[in-house]
Amino acid sequence: MTSSQPPQSARPGSTPSRQNLDPHLDRYAARTAGMTASEIRALFAVASRPEVVSLAGGMPNLAALPLDSLSTQMAEVVAEDGLVALQYGSAQGVPTLREQICDVMAMEGISAHPDDVVVTVGSQMGLDMVTRLFCDPGDVVIAEGPSYVGALGSFAAYQANVVHVAMDDDGLVPDNLREALAAAKQRGQRVKCLYTIPNFHNPAGVTLAVDRRAEIVEICAEHDVLIIEDNPYGLLGFDGQTYPSLRSMAPENVVYLGSFSKTFASGLRVGWVLAPHAVREKLVLAAESATLCPPTLNQLVVSKYLETHDWKGQIKTFRENYRERRDAMLSALEQHLPAGCTWTQPEGGFYVWVTVPEGVDTKAMLPRAVTARVAYASGTGFYADGLGSRQMRLSYCYPTPERIREGVRRLAGVLESEMEL
Ligand code: PMP
Repeated sequence: MTSSQPPQSARPGSTPSRQNLDPHLDRYAARTAGMTASEIRALFAVASRPEVVSLAGGMPNLAALPLDSLSTQMAEVVAEDGLVALQYGSAQGVPTLREQICDVMAMEGISAHPDDVVVTVGSQMGLDMVTRLFCDPGDVVIAEGPSYVGALGSFAAYQANVVHVAMDDDGLVPDNLREALAAAKQRGQRVKCLYTIPNFHNPAGVTLAVDRRAEIVEICAEHDVLIIEDNPYGLLGFDGQTYPSLRSMAPENVVYLGSFSKTFASGLRVGWVLAPHAVREKLVLAAESATLCPPTLNQLVVSKYLETHDWKGQIKTFRENYRERRDAMLSALEQHLPAGCTWTQPEGGFYVWVTVPEGVDTKAMLPRAVTARVAYASGTGFYADGLGSRQMRLSYCYPTPERIREGVRRLAGVLESEMEL
């Protein structure tokens, strides 16, 4: 857990100053100025106390995984292939796994060649590498407003300027994108990338309408803007529905990020980038300088799982579990939240995005919610520009339906007192 406070190293009797709070302060590279602890990560410590119902984190619910057969399989990987599994491997990733990743992407209609797949340590590493490759300090990255906190962290670390584009219930609004591009041009800023989560958005819970997808791809091509399509939830549509990927519409202008974190096991940290062919070589170099190679053992475990398990059936089970939790949350919100609150209706993924009445500040309210034994993620953490104080993200992925109902009941009580203030 990182803290927003630098460690205290002041000696007794000395006057505290910025310098003796962290003696390395004037050594840090200038780009670290943008690195601050995310509000959401800072929350984890309080939210994980057992008496608190946490609707804050986005941890996948792994209870449905077949742990017995997985542990047998993991042992088999070492017994049968240990000298490979425990050795360095290729920076691009294990070739068999890259082929299997293409089969996974085919479930969403993406046709890809294993040569264009780079295995990463979760898609978070993909975000870091892509930003490192494409963003100079001051470049603009357009992102949905709100957007994924980990992506905002990567953009900040490379000193890119995030410009948010508002969404509606059908995701990113093409006209708003056009306006943002025109405004950046007028300011003389170079827009390098559009970062988008088209399916079951984190944190907004919405999905980009199918008829907007080609339009967005076209706008980006017209303005010479690279698309970063982040799709960790695409196979978690509650009716098994999938949507056409932006990548399949413009393979040479879309960097696609995928992950096994939500469809298998987040702790294995295996994700991937599907890059335009021309970008692949630089990506592999970036991966090599970051990690030499992704963990071979973890890749072989994922590969064996895909080869021998009914992984599609497992995803279906995950979807059913999440659907049950989504239903519990939506009906509890309907039943308990005070008038004036609105929220999105996710058809997949982990999150509901709630807007509260004017006058309520979700960031200021959070300590009072924790006192009332419920936690959420305040909306401000999902914007780079300070918006979001009337919003909050509620996650239904992890708690049981009973805990979700109890959490929403507690939250409603806090909101009611807040509205009376
Ligand atoms: N992108 C989005 C939209 C996410 O929600 C997450 C995880 N919360 C990630 C990327 C990172 O996932 P991974 O575990 O693959 O690094």
